[in-house]
Amino acid sequence: MRPFDYARAGSRSEATGAAAHAGAAFIAGGTNLLDLMKLQVMTPERLVDIQGLGLDGIEETGDGGLRIGAAVTNSDLAADARVRSRWPLISRAILAGASGQIRNKASTGGNLLQRTRCYYFYDTDMACNKREPGSGCAAMGGATRLHAILGGSNHCIATHPSDMAVAMQALGAVVETERAGGSGREIPLAEFHVLPGDRPDIETALEPGELITAVRLPSPVAGRQIYRKVRDRASYAFALVSVAAIVEVAEGRIARADLAFGGIAPKPWRDGEVEKALVGQEPSDRLFHQAADILLRSAKGQRGNDFKIPLIRRTMLATLREATEELA
Ligand SMILES: Cc1cc2nc3c(=O)[nH]c(=O)nc-3n(C[C@H](O)[C@H](O)[C@H](O)COP(=O)(O)OP(=O)(O)OC[C@H]3O[C@@H](n4cnc5c(N)ncnc54)[C@H](O)[C@@H]3O)c2cc1C
Repeated sequence: MRPFDYARAGSRSEATGAAAHAGAAFIAGGTNLLDLMKLQVMTPERLVDIQGLGLDGIEETGDGGLRIGAAVTNSDLAADARVRSRWPLISRAILAGASGQIRNKASTGGNLLQRTRCYYFYDTDMACNKREPGSGCAAMGGATRLHAILGGSNHCIATHPSDMAVAMQALGAVVETERAGGSGREIPLAEFHVLPGDRPDIETALEPGELITAVRLPSPVAGRQIYRKVRDRASYAFALVSVAAIVEVAEGRIARADLAFGGIAPKPWRDGEVEKALVGQEPSDRLFHQAADILLRSAKGQRGNDFKIPLIRRTMLATLREATEELA
């Protein structure tokens, strides 16, 4: 690990001021950043610790939603009684990931900003446009078991690894931020993560030094909430594919279908056309296949990850069957 300065910020303005310098990075739980620093994939010169900023509260908003502080741990968020009863998708997605020890340290903001698990990104001997813009992409023609089938480019096919972010995408969460000087922004999660195009190193809409202060969930909606994750091991493994679903059936027809997908794209993936195809229709395997055809209309495998195309279809079908089956 390279030497670095460490400062524990006492206020938001101190944090954003300290992080405005090139080479600075916020540190929350450190469960991703420190690993990357040990491998010299990330080499910040200054760490700005944001754990003393009072961003660790969960509060209800006036409109029935929930504001989750950026420093709330994944364990506390998954265990929150309001989350478990009204936004269980969040608890289920978080508990499907990492381990108890990691979730005790991992924060809400850090989870959204965790970097890809692409093997070539982690190996500094390999070309990676995300780590070193313009160096190339060793994943192309390489081992691609974990890689994207949608949304990638010739410059990058890495996937976004977060489970929580997929659930938040389906729920229509909004990210609240603060910049140096004190101005704040609200960024819908749908616009927060960006596709690689020819700049895979730019992963989010955040500006350098911009602090995530909270994530806001809209008021809960009717319907069953399901998070289904397929992975190589039963625990302690990132998603090969995942589906987050909020599905409501009323009078035999699908009244709501909010779906987001993980493990298949460089960002938590949501496709309005898929949802449009489902809403208003009677649930059936035929309908679910039609929706999967829409999801996968531009899917492209790289040999090693070709299996994800039928796998995400089957996972989506199983999720939709479970969400729409009548309870005995
Ligand atoms: C063995 C292992 C298995 C895992 N398995 C899974 C899994 O199955 N599913 C899953 O989703 N995740 C998994 N994770 C990832 C884990 O969820 C993340 O490491 C964690 O959520 C990151 O949060 P953190 O607070 O530790 O972030 P940090 O490591 O502190 O920070 C991560 C990044 O976010 C930035 N950052 C942090 N907070 C803020 C903020 N408020 N504003 C702006 N920038 C900020 C940091 O500068 C850094 O770039 C796993 C991790 C490990 C080590």
